[in-house]
Amino acid sequence: SVKTRFAPSPTGYLHVGGARTALYSWLHAKANSGQFVLRIEDTDLERSTPEAVQAIMDGMEWLSLDWNEGPYFQTKRFDRYAEVIEQLIAQGDAYPCFCSKQRLDDLREQQMANKEKPRYDGKCRHLAPESIDLSQDHVIRFKNPQEGAVTFDDVVKGPITIANAELDDLIIARTDGSPTYNFTVVVDDMDMQITQVIRGDDHINNTPRQINIFKALNANIPQYGHVPMILGDDGKKLSKRHGAVSVMQYRDDGYLPQAVLNYLVRLGWSHGDQEIFSVAQMIELFDINNINKAPSAFNTQKLNWLNQTYIKQLPLDVLLPHLQWHLNKANLNLQDGPAIGELIPEFAERIQTLVELVEVIRPYYSDFDKFDEGAAKKHLRPVALEALVCVKQKFEALADWQPELIQQAIDATVSELEIGMGKVGMPLRVAVTGAGMSPALDLTLKWIGKDRALQRIEFAIK
Ligand code: GLU
Repeated sequence: SVKTRFAPSPTGYLHVGGARTALYSWLHAKANSGQFVLRIEDTDLERSTPEAVQAIMDGMEWLSLDWNEGPYFQTKRFDRYAEVIEQLIAQGDAYPCFCSKQRLDDLREQQMANKEKPRYDGKCRHLAPESIDLSQDHVIRFKNPQEGAVTFDDVVKGPITIANAELDDLIIARTDGSPTYNFTVVVDDMDMQITQVIRGDDHINNTPRQINIFKALNANIPQYGHVPMILGDDGKKLSKRHGAVSVMQYRDDGYLPQAVLNYLVRLGWSHGDQEIFSVAQMIELFDINNINKAPSAFNTQKLNWLNQTYIKQLPLDVLLPHLQWHLNKANLNLQDGPAIGELIPEFAERIQTLVELVEVIRPYYSDFDKFDEGAAKKHLRPVALEALVCVKQKFEALADWQPELIQQAIDATVSELEIGMGKVGMPLRVAVTGAGMSPALDLTLKWIGKDRALQRIEFAIK
């Protein structure tokens, strides 16, 4: 049965590239009724932090990428790695190497001078047992086969073959005994019975080395899929220069996890020309064999469009918790204004993020003490006084605060003062919303509420 994993190194936040490989692994597991494992590769003690572990898990949780097993931590598995190293030594597939740094540096220099690829020459492979003194500083190296080749069929890149002559004897344990990345990954993927490894193609050169270790351990070799990197819109590798790269930054910037997931799934995978995928549809349609071979470029406009689409389409009860997060941050309370479900369809056309949505609905839920400067200059003073006074009187007299009656009061003001609609409407709009843009005035005023509208007109007149 299928078992995939996401194996981040906790050296920073969950970035877009990591989230995408996590999503693809998760989808492959879900699509095949399999299991998904979270494994924290924290053996780099200098660079790994508990905050980063938390940030990665927060990102996964925000995206609803849940795991069936884990999180495993590699630092808790050192005994197991030591055991496998012993096994490899015992069966003659690993050996202690006493070569000094000086010797290795000299070797490298010589090889470079000869235009050879720098590689360990295997000096300690054949040490006589009596010359081995394990109390001396040493590393442990894996005895890579010297003949033949490693071949694997990458689900993204196709068949790949590397001659063993290209690979040298990899260090699997450092002088302090700590195991190295290429080794711990194999032990974990073996022990956790991983069937598919989906990861960034920056790891593709590690794969033949890892496969050789699998073979030495007589373990099942997973299928590999190396996903091309994500480029910025300028064609360079995606980085902070291009804006947000942390998944949680997208939350903060007002994106919905549904939109980010939809964006990520399409960033390097396609199903015909379909753009919108619910998570259920992704699970139904995702196929690792359709992952694109070519790198994909990040396109903020497309993400914005998707986000807007989801803001418009999500049922209110699904949207609301995400919006609530931003409302809290902005100190707005839905109790203080109209039913939000009425506003969203009106405003969704002009906003692309929840942050923008919160800004445009703000005047309906909280008072302001300044008008937008440009709008006030243009529409409010001094020409509008008469119109505002007149319309305010008519509003005060209204028995019912309904759009039709509100509109009638505005129309009556227009005809009474014999001025254009804009000369009443615009000052009124700026007075009650603080800004020069809003939906139709009758609706806007209804949502603002009668008391609040009158107070604001009063404030604008003064
Ligand atoms: N820990 C590695 C990384 O964060 C991933 C290793 C793997 O997926 O095999 O790049």
